[in-house]
Amino acid sequence: MQTLTQIRDGLAAGDFSSVEITRDLLDRIAATDGALNAYITVTEAQALQQAEAADRDRAAGNAGPLNGLPLAIKDIFCTDGVRTSCASRMLDNFIAPYDATVIARLRDAGSVMLGKTNMDEFAMGSSNESSHYGPARNPWDRDRVPGGSSGGSAVAVAAGMAPAALGTDTGGSIRQPAAFCGITGLKPTYGRVSRYGMIAYASSLDQGGPMARSAEDCALLLQGIAGFDERDSTSIDREVPDYGARLDDGIDGLRIGLPKQYFAAGLDDGVARVIDAAIDEYRRLGAEVIEVDLPNSGIAIPAYYVVAMAECSSNLSRFDGVRFGHRCDDPKDLEDLYKRSRAEGFGDEVKRRILIGTYALSAGYYDAYYLKAQKLRRLISNDFQSAFERVDLIAGPTTPTPAFPLGDNRDDPVAMYLQDIYTISVNLAGLPAISLPAGFSDGLPVGLQLIGNYFDEARLLNAAHRFQQATDWHLRQPEVTA
Ligand code: GLN
Repeated sequence: MQTLTQIRDGLAAGDFSSVEITRDLLDRIAATDGALNAYITVTEAQALQQAEAADRDRAAGNAGPLNGLPLAIKDIFCTDGVRTSCASRMLDNFIAPYDATVIARLRDAGSVMLGKTNMDEFAMGSSNESSHYGPARNPWDRDRVPGGSSGGSAVAVAAGMAPAALGTDTGGSIRQPAAFCGITGLKPTYGRVSRYGMIAYASSLDQGGPMARSAEDCALLLQGIAGFDERDSTSIDREVPDYGARLDDGIDGLRIGLPKQYFAAGLDDGVARVIDAAIDEYRRLGAEVIEVDLPNSGIAIPAYYVVAMAECSSNLSRFDGVRFGHRCDDPKDLEDLYKRSRAEGFGDEVKRRILIGTYALSAGYYDAYYLKAQKLRRLISNDFQSAFERVDLIAGPTTPTPAFPLGDNRDDPVAMYLQDIYTISVNLAGLPAISLPAGFSDGLPVGLQLIGNYFDEARLLNAAHRFQQATDWHLRQPEVTA
């Protein structure tokens, strides 16, 4: 299976056309996705049209930067004329009337959309099991979860059903499935990538980003989506660097911080061994490894789940059965319409979060919960800033364990929330972070997480790329049979 960069180069050299590569991928999806459930919708006809248009543009000398490159898109991004379900019964019938900004940019750059990928309902989850369309399955072991919420995007890339994909990350949803499926995923700095047209879960945490086979491919895709958007009030107007330009720079003297809190109780032995070996690889590459302290790491999960649930209860109030989305049959009156439409349209995890979030925001409790969580959030950000005075990047495991069996945490929401222990503080602080394949534990991929300071994506990609030049973990692929 070729990487995105290889496909770009092959198209430029005329070795194959976009129609040929798109057709191959559609065939592979048809042959293998029945067992893996990575896609909710495959946009076959549109993909072939876009590929033909890309080939024509190239022949006319008008190839955009992503000309002819096939991509999978998480089903949380609005795509004009194509169902955008957020893996919810609520939006099962929703055909988006416009493109999200990142989708428009990818289209203008000449890329081809293969389809819309499976996810946890409204991006709430860490296993893809809350999807209305059933879970996607981990191609390394189909009885295990692929991670979530961008599980379908991770599976599509890992199983060779797309060279790269878009995901979103509110508390780990790009990095955790990337780790579980053995691919590379980058969560950009908050404000780097437009959220316009990306269905909101928790607005102060959500960020879209690339998922691919390598850091080099993530750089290529990030280049296509990053940048200011006046339609997103939290988008930051700041120049976008050339993410490919620094990939090969040496990392001699790079200062990598290891937070002692990330290597404490709760970390699986197999994961710890892989991460230790990856850190040794960085030492060999010339990095200097320094212990750092993130003393407030322990409060990240409670702070995150208050903020995320409060914001989702507000964001999801728009799904009321009136304007769009699921509407119950024969409502008695308006109240009955609201109640039954929402009761029927949302799954259990979404309801749990709306209820808790509504409680946390209710009069008299706002200060005790949401405001308090915002204060904890500040402490967590301050910890990172103190660490970044001494180091360039922070490294650790992406997840405490490798992919767990389907069903294992489904009935225990708190156990599921604990999966996010190493990823969510990054969202609370708004920092960029990448997960890259670092080895295996009992045949399952393990992800190394690198966290950077604000807008330091180029440095993260450079450090990840150098690791991938020295190792071949990211090139391992699961055996995928129909
Ligand atoms: N697992 C986390 C949650 O359920 C993160 C999800 C995400 O990043 N979208 O909220």
